[in-house]
Amino acid sequence: MMRLPWFGFHSPKTLAEAAKILAAEGPRAMLIAGGTDLLPNMKRRHQTPATLVSLRQIEALKRTTNGSSATLGAGLTLNEVVANPMVREQYAGLWQAAAQVATVHLRNMGTLGGNLCLDTRCNYYNQNYEWRKAIDFCMKKDGEICWVATASKRCVATSSTDTAPALMSLGATVHLVSTQGERDVALADLYRNDGIDYLTRRPDEILTEVKLPAAEGWKSSYWKLRRRGAFDFPVLGVAAAVKTARDGTVEEARIALGAVSSRPLLTKGGELLVGRKLTDEAIAEAGRKVASVAKPMDNTDLDLYWRKGVVGEFVGYALREIRGDDMSATRLRIARHDLKEIP
Ligand SMILES: Cc1cc2nc3c(=O)[nH]c(=O)nc-3n(C[C@H](O)[C@H](O)[C@H](O)COP(=O)(O)OP(=O)(O)OC[C@H]3O[C@@H](n4cnc5c(N)ncnc54)[C@H](O)[C@@H]3O)c2cc1C
Ligand code: SF4
Repeated sequence: MMRLPWFGFHSPKTLAEAAKILAAEGPRAMLIAGGTDLLPNMKRRHQTPATLVSLRQIEALKRTTNGSSATLGAGLTLNEVVANPMVREQYAGLWQAAAQVATVHLRNMGTLGGNLCLDTRCNYYNQNYEWRKAIDFCMKKDGEICWVATASKRCVATSSTDTAPALMSLGATVHLVSTQGERDVALADLYRNDGIDYLTRRPDEILTEVKLPAAEGWKSSYWKLRRRGAFDFPVLGVAAAVKTARDGTVEEARIALGAVSSRPLLTKGGELLVGRKLTDEAIAEAGRKVASVAKPMDNTDLDLYWRKGVVGEFVGYALREIRGDDMSATRLRIARHDLKEIP
């Protein structure tokens, strides 16, 4: 049995109190929300904070607003996000992404903020201490070499959050709060393509809410590739959001990818669609463009060349769903992992 290391614990009731504790403790402290990522990581000695600052008692982090734009508190559990009719009706891509994270039990604990700040993953890292010690560790924790790319000076662990690509395609920003002040950051700028230092968030900052622009005229969709349909981290996530005029001409479009690099990736594929209708030809072109920037590494499940090979196909699924095609049979096939059908 893997045991947690010893740690101090604070459970503040206000944001100001949490920010103050975090500032006083410095980098030896970490935030904990649902703990579904952090606690297993602590058991494997990936992270060994001296102090945990829990966000669970802070009601302000559960706030949701819906006006001309929408905000979702970072402390909402993923099941609360999924149960929100505004999310389901106006931000379908986010709803689909949140509903496919882990299992219902984990979504009851896991939060939106925790999902956005999820640690990067790698087959050589997500192992217990003894396993990692047996290979002399790796650069991300306790070691010096990267076993995936031995000549690399950078860790290439994979960003595996489902909601980040969905929210990026929707044009989300996040709000960060510390004792030093507050700031809004475009979600795309919250991430770095670095498996170790993967967030631009400072250790003293708390991600408090996600802001979404008005959904009028937009449709969105999220498609996830994973080994087990019941639950698994994504080995590919494709999120698309498209704004069309009444005659179906695309006015704006964004396509984002998950699990193909150390950061969720906002691609330029959507730009190819602007001024055109969502024809099969335009969709295929966007799929090829997006696939060309996907660089999955050999550090997660399924063959990496095959994973890269299906990116364009998954972009097609998302865009065809947005166009209004009935994609339910394809969704079922992927959920059943009937992957031999995917070219
Ligand atoms: C078996 C299993 C399967 C899983 N499958 C998936 C999956 O398919 N897709 C997926 O995306 N995830 C998956 N997860 C990971 C995890 O359950 C979710 O990502 C969840 O949303 C994490 O949220 P949390 O609140 O539990 O985060 P925590 O574990 O509490 O925190 C995660 C990280 O975020 C930081 N953090 C948390 N909240 C904040 C905040 N408000 N501000 C700043 N930093 C913060 C913490 O310090 C920590 O570094 C899985 C986990 C398990 C154990
Ligand atoms: S990508 Fe390399 S350095 Fe990063 S976790 Fe994997 S093996 Fe370690």
